Formats: sequence, C-alpha cells, structure tokens
Amino acid sequence: MPGLSLNASFVLPSPLQLLRSKFLSDSGVKLWIKRDDLIHTQISGNKWRKLKYNIRQMQQEGKKGMITFGGAFSNHIYATAAAGQYFGFSTIGIIRGEASAALNPTLAFAHSCGMQLQFVSRMAYRDQLGLQSELDLPWEEYYLLPEGGSNGYALPGCAEMIDELKQQLDNQYPDYCCLSCGTGGTMAGLITGLKGAGQLIGFSALKGDFHQSAIADLLAQNQYPQYTNWQINTRYHFGGYARHNAQLIELMQCFYQDFQIPLDPIYTGKLFYGIFELIREGFFPKGSTVVALHSGGLQGNQGFTKRFGIHLPS
Ligand SMILES: *Cc1c(COP(=O)(O)O)cnc(C)c1O
Repeated sequence: MPGLSLNASFVLPSPLQLLRSKFLSDSGVKLWIKRDDLIHTQISGNKWRKLKYNIRQMQQEGKKGMITFGGAFSNHIYATAAAGQYFGFSTIGIIRGEASAALNPTLAFAHSCGMQLQFVSRMAYRDQLGLQSELDLPWEEYYLLPEGGSNGYALPGCAEMIDELKQQLDNQYPDYCCLSCGTGGTMAGLITGLKGAGQLIGFSALKGDFHQSAIADLLAQNQYPQYTNWQINTRYHFGGYARHNAQLIELMQCFYQDFQIPLDPIYTGKLFYGIFELIREGFFPKGSTVVALHSGGLQGNQGFTKRFGIHLPS
C-alpha cells in the first residue's frame, strides 16, 4: 500500500509533555499530556488519527473523494475538508441543520478548502440511508465516511498513538490513559493499541449512556478482542454536548495560565476538569503515571467566542 506522504507541516510523533504544578506534585500523580493538538494546524488531533487509514482505503478503492457528515461546528468536517485540500481529493460535507445566511468560521474554512456543503434538516440527517436516495450526490464515486470519522479504519490510526506513547515513556505503558469521548471511535482505537495494558478512562462529552455499547460494537465488528481495561466516566459532560458553564471556562483559563496550553470547551476542557476532580478525590494511586490526550478541537474556539462572547485562548 502506498504511504501517505506528509510534509513538515505534520508533527509526528506528537509531543508528550509532563505537566508541572504544585497541586500535581503534592498529589503524587505524574500527569502527562499527549499533544495531538499539535499534529497539524488544520488536520488536528484525533481527527487525523481517524482519517489516516480511511484516506488510504479511499485511494485503494479508486474513489475520487469523500462524503462525510457533521454538525455546523464539527471538528471532523473541518479536518476532512483540510485533508482533502492537502492530499488532493474532493470532499462533500453533509451538514446537520439549515444553512444560515453567513457561514460560521468552521464552515467558511471548509468551503474555502473546496468542500461542497450540503445542508439537511435535523430529521433527514438522522436517516442516513434515506439521504442516499433523496440527495442527488455522486454516491458511487465517493468514499462514505460516517460522522466523526469513526469506523473500523479509524482504529489502527488511533492505535498508533499508543505505540508513540510507549516509546516516549521508555517502553512502558502508562498506568492510565484519559481521553474525551464523542462517538467513542478514538477510545476504541486506543483500546486496541493498549492490548489490555493499563487502564483507559473515557470522559463523555455528551449526556447519555451509549458509549459502552457503541465502543464494544465497534471492537466486535472489527474482530478485535474484547478487552476489559476501560471505563466511561459520565460525570463531566456539563449538561451535554456543547454545553458549558462558568466553572468549565474558569478551568480552561487557569489551565492556560499554568501550562500555556489552550483547551476547547466541547471536549478537552471537560476532560481536564474531570481529571483534576479525580486527582483531588484520590482516584489515582500515588506514583501513577496518567496520560491525558489533547485531542485537538481548537478550531472551534473562534466560533465559540463569536457565539458567546467569551474569549478563549487558542
Ligand atoms: C471529535 C473529537 C473528540 C471525540 O472523538 P470520538 O472519536 O468521536 O470519541 C474528542 N476530542 C476532540 C477535540 C474532538 O474533536
């Protein structure tokens, strides 16, 4: 299979940094952050990990581009549009919700990368099979990538992050890996990479209890062993997807002051809020090595500032 050629705009392996503060040294927990947000300025974070083998598969199938799905602020839409421009394939984004007069920063960027945007109602969006008969799009010539880029081909790309980590930690697996979960595709990939080593905690960014079965299904459908070293924490979704409150914003601002690392309010802000709470509660034994995944998502901060008038470092 031909390799994808990546120029110097990709930072791989992504850096691993130890976070240092008085609180953390008092806690006895070694907290590392895996900077997937630095992989690429536009094809960032876990979205690149999930796209990588999907792009190869698309090329192998001789398709001319990708059709994919997402909300109007979707990091996945943003990254797929940028990847299409970078690797030279065409992209069509099926966007949930009606078109507004002006494109928001996420969609304006996707459009500027050449992505064709197709808006569909929330109701039609839910019926993806129905869309294929209703929408006049070149379905046959395009590779279909589900929402969030989460399918079987997403898993090996995410698993590579664990290989990088192990090397960066002197050939050791961390005691805990923590990440934010949307669809659960990234978590499923990390589970396959860990092959049963350590513990994985997925912090749900959404309300509801669907992750456990969504992840188990994704693993089973792709013939991966049913590892049991993982759990979903549902305590830090802050009311649901894209909801936020003053405490969350404050955590993000303090985190930036202490470590000069920007977070996003949808995923990684909630993740670090949850991790710091668990550390405070003594959840991680003293001496543990904990790796938190910075999965990216910073492109959305601009739109967030525009919508809510709350400045976020980015
Ligand atoms: C999409 C996204 C996630 C969620 O990833 P899933 O694989 O859907 O669980 C987490 N963090 C960021 C920054 C994202 O953009």
